[in-house]
Amino acid sequence: MSPYLTLDDVDVNGLAVLVRSDLNVPLDGGAVGDAFRIEAALPTLERLVDSGARVTVCSHLGRPEGEDPAFSLRPVAQRMAELTQKTVVFEDEGEGQVRVLENTRFMPGETKNDPALADRLANGVDLFVQDAFGSVHRAHVSTVGVPERVKSVAGPLLDAELKALSRFLEEPERPYSLILGGAKISDKLAVIENLLPRADAILVGGGMCFTLLAAKGIEVGKSLVEPDMIESVRRLLEGYDEEKIILPSDVVVAQEFKEDSPAETVYVRHIPEAMIGLDIGRETGAIFAGVIRDSNTVFWNGPMGVFEWERFRAGTERVAHAMAETSGFTAVGGGDSVAALRMLGLQGEVDHVSTGGGAGLELLEGKILPGVEVLERWAK
Ligand code: ADP
Ligand code: MG
Repeated sequence: MSPYLTLDDVDVNGLAVLVRSDLNVPLDGGAVGDAFRIEAALPTLERLVDSGARVTVCSHLGRPEGEDPAFSLRPVAQRMAELTQKTVVFEDEGEGQVRVLENTRFMPGETKNDPALADRLANGVDLFVQDAFGSVHRAHVSTVGVPERVKSVAGPLLDAELKALSRFLEEPERPYSLILGGAKISDKLAVIENLLPRADAILVGGGMCFTLLAAKGIEVGKSLVEPDMIESVRRLLEGYDEEKIILPSDVVVAQEFKEDSPAETVYVRHIPEAMIGLDIGRETGAIFAGVIRDSNTVFWNGPMGVFEWERFRAGTERVAHAMAETSGFTAVGGGDSVAALRMLGLQGEVDHVSTGGGAGLELLEGKILPGVEVLERWAK
């Protein structure tokens, strides 16, 4: 039994339904770049229309300071209209089956969960559907204020995210491993802290592995190190069986942080003083791939190297393929990790692709997500 209601628990026929979707699409010169978030949001909206609801959808887009036409949802509404058989209108411009509201971040008070704005947005709404997993870690009007005021349920996307990610917190099938990478250890240390006691192995690559290596006294040259984090990392490593945290044995190093910089592979104990580690090495890639394939539950967040540049992509590619080949339950989270997976055409090969970077991390840190907690009161 889930602690919140879902669309399966309510009859929406004839209701005015406000949906909070994640339509925070990448923009490309004023137009919608990649439409995958619109495509992901549509089935929920179409299902509501087909069930007889009058549907309004809202979302934030980017981080505008107040009303900034560059962040309008108008192009999103246009693209949505092209992608669905339903009629779509923007704001109050005519009649349609789905009404798209302007960027919630244009509404003064949204990010402060202002009560007056919440009253206004909730006015006339019979049912609120929270379907934007990527936003539920924030207490805004469109995530907390509105669902405090009107009956609310979790939409199918949110429900799927929570169900998938809960498998990494509650009784995961063993062996259970975690692959972490990306730029900064400071973003993900809390996740490591929370999951270390539960996981059988934590494999670390990406920029963040160099702070861990440095904490163990290894010279990492000019690689990305967060000096402020070394003490906390050291304390964390001390409390645990060293074998549980698997660090790279070899890395690809470059002379400069540049796409075409000359590069070579070295053992981590031989990183030249003047060089920067930009990917895990082949040996490490093979070890990581082996652990992934032997796991029954695997979560991956953070690229293994600067995958945007071909020369430093091999480690991420190796891990992505291992994730795709594993028969265990596999999930990938994080904007850049998902981008890497999509770039390799492997997004359909893992069991769950998590869309909410920050929200996913906070959930795995063991934090309560305010936009989910508020839904629970309607299930009581
Ligand atoms: P995600 O979005 O999947 O959570 P992050 O945002 O934490 O991942 O990190 C992604 C970024 O980390 C990528 O842009 C990648 O280039 C960078 N990165 C990976 N490895 C390194 C490295 N060794 N040095 C510097 N940056 C790195
Ligand atoms: Mg990122």
